[in-house]
Amino acid sequence: MKANYKNIIPLKQLLAPAQKNGFAIGAFSPRYTAMIRSVLLAAEHLQSPAIVQIAQVELGWYQSNLVDFAHVFWQQVDELQPTIPIGLHLDHTQDFELIKQAIDLGFTSVMIDASQQPLDGNIATTRQVVEYAHAHGVSVEAELGKIGTADFIESDVDEELYTDPQEAALFVAQTGVDALAVSVGTAHGVYLVRQPKVDIGRLNAIRALTDVALVLHGGSGTPAEMVHNAIQLSGGGVSKVNIATDLELGMLAALGRKERTTEAGLNLLPAADIEIGAKAVQKVVEEKIINYLGSAQKKDLYQLG
Ligand SMILES: [Zn+2]
Repeated sequence: MKANYKNIIPLKQLLAPAQKNGFAIGAFSPRYTAMIRSVLLAAEHLQSPAIVQIAQVELGWYQSNLVDFAHVFWQQVDELQPTIPIGLHLDHTQDFELIKQAIDLGFTSVMIDASQQPLDGNIATTRQVVEYAHAHGVSVEAELGKIGTADFIESDVDEELYTDPQEAALFVAQTGVDALAVSVGTAHGVYLVRQPKVDIGRLNAIRALTDVALVLHGGSGTPAEMVHNAIQLSGGGVSKVNIATDLELGMLAALGRKERTTEAGLNLLPAADIEIGAKAVQKVVEEKIINYLGSAQKKDLYQLG
């Protein structure tokens, strides 16, 4: 299944040129395995680095699993032979066993989200994952502060706690994480019950104290100008932006559906319908790369192999 492709690289190597050169890499969740191909095609078309990711909670919603997801990813890579830098990332999990499984399946980075724990517990849990992952050549993202929900669809809790800059510096120093998801005003899901915002002052204060790669979750629906400001921070802005909901909304709109389906439900649709959905997802990803992330034509900044 997994092979050694020199362009499929750990998060740390993906994000460094982005942070240095004022662009960000989209971490796109295709949610359905049939949509993984769309992310790869869009990124290759625009010669943009990209991350394919899936969160543990998404595997639950779509009645999918990590083995199938990884299998389809590697199958598509074998078929398409993309030339751009790519990451395969496990988003939000608290489950160390799932992290170990992801690493065995060839994921190049994982996110341990122990942000619900008090600071010392978050540090201890994260450090344990960092030790294991780094020993396997895999990067780690962690979260400090709490990122809320915007629509009460993906989560019924909207507990939000902005990241404290001093704590962020301490957390990075004590855990050795490669990337840090910060809570600065964006939220997961569709903005129905509140408006998106990005606290640039807070991002600047965090950047002044640590050079860790910064990650913005809840990229769907956040106005491009806010995202640009976060990416183009002096001293190196956000270099990874998570985008999930907008891909699925694009797919559902193209199919004339209002409600999400399951992995099996989507795969039961006629091939022509799946293709319509896949084209829509590709279009959304291309639009994000151009208008949000500024990552098109950045392939040459990477030394691959
Ligand atoms: Zn998130």
